[in-house]
Amino acid sequence: MADKIYDVLILGGGAAGMTAGIYASRSRLSVVMIEKGYPGGQVMMCETIENFPGFPNGTNGFELASGMKEQAEKFGTEIKLTEIEKVELNGPEKVAYTSDGETIRGKSAILCLGAHHRRLMVPGEADFLGKGVSYCAVCDGALFAGKKLAVVGGGDTAVGDAVYLTRFASEVHIVHRRDAFRAQKILQERALEHPKIKVHWDSVVERVSGTDLVESVTLKTVKTEETKVVDVDAVFVLVGLTPNTGMLQGQVEMDSDGYIFTDENMQTSVPGVFAAGDARHKLLRQIVTACSDGAIAAAAAERFIEGL
Ligand code: NAP
Repeated sequence: MADKIYDVLILGGGAAGMTAGIYASRSRLSVVMIEKGYPGGQVMMCETIENFPGFPNGTNGFELASGMKEQAEKFGTEIKLTEIEKVELNGPEKVAYTSDGETIRGKSAILCLGAHHRRLMVPGEADFLGKGVSYCAVCDGALFAGKKLAVVGGGDTAVGDAVYLTRFASEVHIVHRRDAFRAQKILQERALEHPKIKVHWDSVVERVSGTDLVESVTLKTVKTEETKVVDVDAVFVLVGLTPNTGMLQGQVEMDSDGYIFTDENMQTSVPGVFAAGDARHKLLRQIVTACSDGAIAAAAAERFIEGL
């Protein structure tokens, strides 16, 4: 079906993309969603999700993501597991070219490209990737039972995951570049009260060292420039996200960090192109706001198609 044009082309299959799929499919639009990994995006990386409404005892990221996928497919969203190499959004047809040579067309597009982990770019970080340097506590935490760990960052991910890692580790050293966390207060309380967690305030990682595996991190205190070596077996770099929007350069308006500008209906600067989820310029990046964006974007796409 080389010439098929879907009503809605969803780029990215995290919480935003799958919710957009559920809503657009229930509106009886033809919908295709392209995702390079397993649908679920960052939701898949969450061991326990405590703040998604309706789950007073928390829910598991894998289960939530799997349920969203099943729901989107049940209502008719076609899911293609392949990598998007290039997009053309400015013409009347919105086009995605995939790494397996497919050209997929839509009358409208919803950009749900999410974000990837930011790196520290310090010596040793790349050398010890998979040998003690990790960007995912849920993926790798259990490998370090009884070990000493460093967690870098002061946001929800770093502070929340530091507490999660105490299940396995003997000590968790949080390294944060300022003297206050930006994480939600409830997560801060849990970390600061935890006997296994030590916080190194106003500190940055200068180097990750070891022989075959990570053995230590060198920390620098930003105010005094003093350095110290802390022996650890792993370093979890959890310093935020960079939006996956490089391929959109010059096609939709974005802020200086690459987050896509939209109006309140998720409309981007290009007619018929909407954005939802973590790659959008907004205040709060949560599963619940990604879902909300996805639902609104689907409704806006439906209205756009009706007007064609
Ligand atoms: P974030 O909120 O952007 O926090 C990144 C942290 O890393 C900040 O503390 C920042 O320091 C620090 N940082 C950034 N670049 C650094 C560098 N080069 N060197 C050292 N430190 C650096 O990122 P996040 O924690 O990954 O969270 C991403 C989004 O997901 C947020 O919107 C968050 O609310 C959401 N999230 C929510 C939950 C939840 O609700 N339970 C869980 C996880 C994530 P400064 O503070 O000095 O800027």
